[in-house]
Amino acid sequence: MTTRRVVLASANPGKLRELQALLSPDLGVVLADEMGVTLPPETGSTFAENALLKARAAAQQTGLVAIADDSGLEVDALGGEPGVHSARYAGPEASDDDNIALLLRRLAGVPPERRTARFRSVVVVVTPDGTEFVGEGTLEGRITSEPRGGGGFGYDPVFQPLGETRTLAEMTLEEKNRMSHRAQALRQAVEALYRWFQRTDGDTGVSRQCGKQFGREERQET
Ligand code: IMP
Repeated sequence: MTTRRVVLASANPGKLRELQALLSPDLGVVLADEMGVTLPPETGSTFAENALLKARAAAQQTGLVAIADDSGLEVDALGGEPGVHSARYAGPEASDDDNIALLLRRLAGVPPERRTARFRSVVVVVTPDGTEFVGEGTLEGRITSEPRGGGGFGYDPVFQPLGETRTLAEMTLEEKNRMSHRAQALRQAVEALYRWFQRTDGDTGVSRQCGKQFGREERQET
């Protein structure tokens, strides 16, 4: 089995764990930090723009296949906020607890049926030859009135997926990965990546842990 190295254009170890849990063992993932990659600021106005900025930078600086995601929480009662500002909702140095506290303050008095929200994720893969794959995923749910659970990261303690009684922070990583927005987007992108590996090196023994059908944009840079 060939081990292929892929650089994850993120500094978030929580995302590295989620990605590793989804990938087959023939893909070794390295965090961009460990390779000395300088990631650009997330100046895009959409999740896709931000993910592409990061993945292109990591692919250019390392010569490896790069994966990047951008994701966030859209709350209907707040007009889709915090959206692309999810990480820094309560300010540039905001912690997860600060962001959650601000979100709950802004939703004070909003009844359960109007606390609908979704996580949205875009994952892009950029290969050294300039091929770009885009995967997308969403997870519908609602914002609870108070944080529950100690797992996950970000807004997990206040996000209750549709049809669930627990928040994401009360689930195991495996349970979250089965439904998460990022897992859906990653599966699509990784499936396309394996196909790219097959096309470029003719390896027919590619392992396929991610069995989901790839059904998204696949484009070649010109
Ligand atoms: P990023 O730009 O993809 O790192 O995500 C931006 C922010 O969205 C994160 O810092 C979190 O606050 C939030 N977020 C994204 N995905 C999740 C998730 O799976 N659980 C909880 N919060 C998330």
